[in-house]
Amino acid sequence: MSAPDYAIEVENLEKVYAASGKMPEKRALQSISLKIPRGSIFGLLGPNGAGKSTFINILAGLVTKTSGTARIWDMDIDQHPRASRAAIGVVNQEITMDPFFTPEEALELQAGFYGVPKGQRRTLEILDAVGLADKRDAYVRQLSGGMKRRLMIAKALVHRPPVLILDEPTAGVDVELRRSLWQYVRRLHDEGTTIILTTHYLEEAEELCDEIAIVNHGEIIACEPTPKLLARMDQRILKIQPREPLSAVPESLKHLDIRLLKSGELEIAYRNSETGIGRLLEQVREAGISVADLSTDQPKLEDVFVAMTTEAA
Ligand code: ADP
Ligand code: MG
Repeated sequence: MSAPDYAIEVENLEKVYAASGKMPEKRALQSISLKIPRGSIFGLLGPNGAGKSTFINILAGLVTKTSGTARIWDMDIDQHPRASRAAIGVVNQEITMDPFFTPEEALELQAGFYGVPKGQRRTLEILDAVGLADKRDAYVRQLSGGMKRRLMIAKALVHRPPVLILDEPTAGVDVELRRSLWQYVRRLHDEGTTIILTTHYLEEAEELCDEIAIVNHGEIIACEPTPKLLARMDQRILKIQPREPLSAVPESLKHLDIRLLKSGELEIAYRNSETGIGRLLEQVREAGISVADLSTDQPKLEDVFVAMTTEAA
């Protein structure tokens, strides 16, 4: 099979979870269309409840879509459910594992499940790659959380899928292990695997992904190469507390994007890449304001969502 241009293509993908018990009906995905290029590290970034896992689970065959189409490795998931799923390895958000198997047994079982013939299995190679070779005979319940997460990645790789999908790969993982997981993901990518990951950490998406789609309330509100997206997040807020609370914005500062707060403090919005904070402070002093305290704020992901949704409106 020749390699397609896109690892994943979805069009007008929609998911409505039916009402059950006291839970009302929930529209988790609202007509999402997305093309994920082969060879990329692609991030789906969004807050909890945005619909990221729903998207992943539809691809994985764990959730049934309500409408729309999805293609994995150029195969429609309705027409070719088995073949399309064989092209992905999915690592779910929750750690799920049978505690009574050793890592080696777990990988062998998984390979059997995917119908990988014994002669073509690479159990030890994979365990080595995720740093679990010395734990091959340990019981899973004796592994740390990070080791279990790595074992889940290992299980997703037994059938050599060209696309690896990681749902919140570092949730609940400590900082050090996070780095080592990132490193391993990059290595897989360098070896040719297309990587798709979801995260609610901007830092993680920024560090790993070459393209990022921002998901909010089941919609994709931005999808851009990472540097372009970050440039949009360039806005900073400088907050100034004068020694004497102000009652008006001084005339000489009115050309700035400036706001007087009820407390008598000032907030100035500026672009980090264009305006140095030193130059701003100079102007504030030239306006005769004596500064008691100051702070700067980077926009939070939520603010960026809001900015983008209003921009688009
Ligand atoms: P994310 O992974 O971005 O945190 P999810 O895809 O898990 O988001 O959830 C999206 C929305 O769908 C949330 O409001 C969530 O409560 C709801 N949801 C998820 N799974 C189910 C389900 N099985 N039944 C009903 N609602 C669900
Ligand atoms: Mg999720």
